Amino acid sequence: MRGALRAKAAMSEKLKDFLAFVNSPIDRSAHLRKDQIALSTMYGSAKSRLVRICGDQVLMRDGKLVDQPEDDTDRIFLGLDGEGVAWFARRIVEQDGLVGLRSLYVDGLLPKPVVDLLAQARSLVHWHERHGFCANCGAATEMQEAGYRRVCASCKAEHFPRTDPVVIMAIRHGDDFLLGRQAAWPVGMYSTLAGFMEPGETIEQAVQREVLEETNVRVGKVSYLASQPWPFPSSIMIGVVGEALSKDITIDPSELEEAHWVSRDVLRQMLRGKHPQGHFASRPQAIAHYILQVASQSR
Ligand SMILES: [Zn+2]
Repeated sequence: MRGALRAKAAMSEKLKDFLAFVNSPIDRSAHLRKDQIALSTMYGSAKSRLVRICGDQVLMRDGKLVDQPEDDTDRIFLGLDGEGVAWFARRIVEQDGLVGLRSLYVDGLLPKPVVDLLAQARSLVHWHERHGFCANCGAATEMQEAGYRRVCASCKAEHFPRTDPVVIMAIRHGDDFLLGRQAAWPVGMYSTLAGFMEPGETIEQAVQREVLEETNVRVGKVSYLASQPWPFPSSIMIGVVGEALSKDITIDPSELEEAHWVSRDVLRQMLRGKHPQGHFASRPQAIAHYILQVASQSR
């Protein structure tokens, strides 16, 4: 039995390797963010890398990230990679050569560690784009600390980059699993329910509320499994498994097109791409796939 548990744990770890954005090689080196001399030296180094971002697209040429730093301001220091190379990011305008971040991780156009570090770059660039003015008094703000703070020139309020927590949950009842479907998804795709956490909520409460709102299913115990940064634009997906206390479903049609229970065997068929009608459950790069895999392996 212990051997079986160990094998399952090893399999879960292996599945984690597929998840996009979870293994950034960047050491954020926060101590360098206020060190203007170190930042200038690193930025001037031919070894340093600059990621240019427009929306959720990255500039590429000849299959590579365009990487020569240029003389500019408002660059964000991401940190140092495993070889001590400094990485920076900055926003650019729409131009030729932009590739969507989603296709980078789905199609494997760049090495996975590089794709993984782009979550930090994309979310920070997006935050700066949307915080040029002070939420307190409306005056212009300016970037400080190499991109990790903005300060209002008028009232001096400080603003910090944010990330928005989202709960994403594999809900089970015995050997059955609750899957939902949004109208915009590809034909045949079903997945976990998910939703933004609200202020003043625990993770458990957010899971229970979201599942009740979307399907009218009541959830009891909630257990944490894994998390995934999701830079569209700036979320952290908190993956859990929840034990349902009821089974009757009434969907909220503004959120879901459909929701139903599937057996463990059917879920496994979907996860392996072997479902007879071609139904599938998210891509392996998404945490929905991972938490359904883990939940379907354990009892
Ligand atoms: Zn202000």
